[in-house]
Amino acid sequence: MKLPGRRTLFRAAGWARAMMRPGPAILGYHRIATSEWDPQHLCVSKENFAQQLEVLRKNVRPLSLRQINRSLAEGRVPARSVAITFDDGYIDTYEDAVPLLKQQELSATVFVITGTIGGCYWWYEVQNLVETANELPERIDLSIGGESFRWTRHARDARNRRSLLKGLGGFFQLLPFSDQQIALDELRPLFASSTKNNRTSRAMSAEQIAELGACELIDIGSHTVSHQPLGRVSTEQQSDELMQSKKALEEITGQPVRSFSYPHGITSADSPRIARELGYTVGCTSREGVVSSSSNPYLLPRLWVGNWDGERFAKWLRLWLR
Ligand SMILES: [Zn+2]
Repeated sequence: MKLPGRRTLFRAAGWARAMMRPGPAILGYHRIATSEWDPQHLCVSKENFAQQLEVLRKNVRPLSLRQINRSLAEGRVPARSVAITFDDGYIDTYEDAVPLLKQQELSATVFVITGTIGGCYWWYEVQNLVETANELPERIDLSIGGESFRWTRHARDARNRRSLLKGLGGFFQLLPFSDQQIALDELRPLFASSTKNNRTSRAMSAEQIAELGACELIDIGSHTVSHQPLGRVSTEQQSDELMQSKKALEEITGQPVRSFSYPHGITSADSPRIARELGYTVGCTSREGVVSSSSNPYLLPRLWVGNWDGERFAKWLRLWLR
């Protein structure tokens, strides 16, 4: 057996280094807000977000998703570069995040759930009903569309609220937007003792989305109509969710919508093909990691940012980009 020569080994090491070199990081945010009630840890405070942007401005090359996509197509991924994304379309993205992005001249993609535009999110309302009820209903029996949910209260079981929330979360996730509204209408009277819902965050209005779409730094992408996990619904539903949301956002912004993010980060083997056929060019998952030259543009990994000050954020980011 012939052993590889020094030059061959050197070339192989260089190739391995190039393969290992971390490409762009796509940062994921939900809300820029301070809230005492943040059960899903979606909030980064305005102060911390401002410090994080300062770190990005000074230390990395800011990129848009479109630029990342272009470099992937050319087979090269720029190192020490970062793109910013927001999921869901909360009103604080418009009111608090974008003004700070403009100050630092940083671009971002905002993925919007079109069913919720100008309204409220089911997860906040469900959580509020269950957590603030003086007493939970004895039984819940919901049958909507093809989905059903049954739950019985256990006597003196401290885990009742947690199990109910978990069950309702799984049930709501699978409903299309119109059925989510029917389910909420059926649930509200059962939770008459709940405190009126004042802990939610509203979604951006169509006018606000149009304004962001016209801003050079902001790209509007789809986060589907109903926020259903695409990997758990039929191919037809996936296609419908991606097509209808794209159409709605293009009507609002007057611009082509080419990017999307997967609700709950859940994909199926069909998702990239469906998205490509509908005219999307890039899709973001919730898989943790940085982009590499072998990344599938329809299954890009992301890094979710916590409510950290600038110093902690810089340390965390260094680990991913070194
Ligand atoms: Zn989402």
